[in-house]
Amino acid sequence: MNPQVSVDPDMSDPEEPIPNQSIMVLLVDDQIMVGEAVRRALLDEAGIEFHYCSNPLDAMAIARTVQPTVILQDLVMPSVNGLDLVRQYRADPYTRNIPIIVLSTKEEASVKSDAFRAGANDYLVKLPDRIELIARIRYHSAAYLSQIQRDEAYRALRKSQQELMQANFALQRLTNVDGLTGLSNRRYFDEYFETEWRQAARERQPLSLLIIDIDHFKQFNDTYGHLAGDEVLRKVAQSVQAAFRRPKDLVVRLGGEEFVVVLPATPMSHLAMLGQRVVDAVEALDLAHSTSPVSDRVTISVGGAGCQPDREDRRLALMEAADKALYEAKRSGRNRAVIDRGL
Ligand code: GH3
Ligand code: MG
Ligand code: MG
Repeated sequence: MNPQVSVDPDMSDPEEPIPNQSIMVLLVDDQIMVGEAVRRALLDEAGIEFHYCSNPLDAMAIARTVQPTVILQDLVMPSVNGLDLVRQYRADPYTRNIPIIVLSTKEEASVKSDAFRAGANDYLVKLPDRIELIARIRYHSAAYLSQIQRDEAYRALRKSQQELMQANFALQRLTNVDGLTGLSNRRYFDEYFETEWRQAARERQPLSLLIIDIDHFKQFNDTYGHLAGDEVLRKVAQSVQAAFRRPKDLVVRLGGEEFVVVLPATPMSHLAMLGQRVVDAVEALDLAHSTSPVSDRVTISVGGAGCQPDREDRRLALMEAADKALYEAKRSGRNRAVIDRGL
């Protein structure tokens, strides 16, 4: 690795010239003579492009397409009032922020104040002095261009902040998800179980758990191979997930062929029915397991327990009660749900 050739593509050089930096002047004036005079004044100026519009009825459309960095706007024209045009530039999202220098024949206070009130940024009496005209064109254009750059930089910053947030969110999700089944993993279970335990204690609501274990799964792997076993894990995961619809129910792959379902606000009296529902759902998958001593299909055993959470130290006891019930389901013949009544 040669460190000299490693370049971070995202680090843009702050000295890099921003494209489209050149000054673009749009003059709107019905008098061809004024158009010629301004053209000549700007002729030898480096970095200034000049557009001239003699028909004020076309001015809006030209301003939208040319996107000038400054507009020189005549006030008195035959078909259109120059002040109305200034108001139109200000009302249009494409021209709203373009600096406007009003060109007037009059040096009158009331005309000036009308022009500024309509939205002009500057005011010059025709024909303006060449040096003054160029200085003002440069000044207003530079201010406009740097404002655009600032807006652009701000937008880019906001975009990258958003992307970072999304990436963090995705990362957070990944650390909480089991790769094989897409279910939540044990890490997330620990977090969720603790949070729900506290909430149930605060709100005086029951909390229940179902622990699920596939029957004779080692035998399944030995018969059909590990890949087929993985496929069974995915299918069982899906069907357990589908059996629990309430938004706070959480289905987790604890590890191996063992799952747990956290059931907030679920009384113990519902557990036998819910446990049987998953047993039936997995049996209904009808996945062949020819070497199982229990059935010719893949089956599960389920242990359930519930309680009214109070002290923190009883959280582990709830887990152990569900585990004990699972053991009882295995011992009494598998392919069934047993609910612990003791807690
Ligand atoms: P029981 O009915 O008593 O639960 O018997 P069992 O064979 O299911 O239980 P045991 O705990 O003896 O074996 C579990 C098996 O699960 C062992 C292991 O090969 C398999 N297993 C664990 N994790 C995975 C996995 O990610 N993929 C596959 N294919 N198999 C797994
Ligand atoms: Mg098992
Ligand atoms: Mg097991």
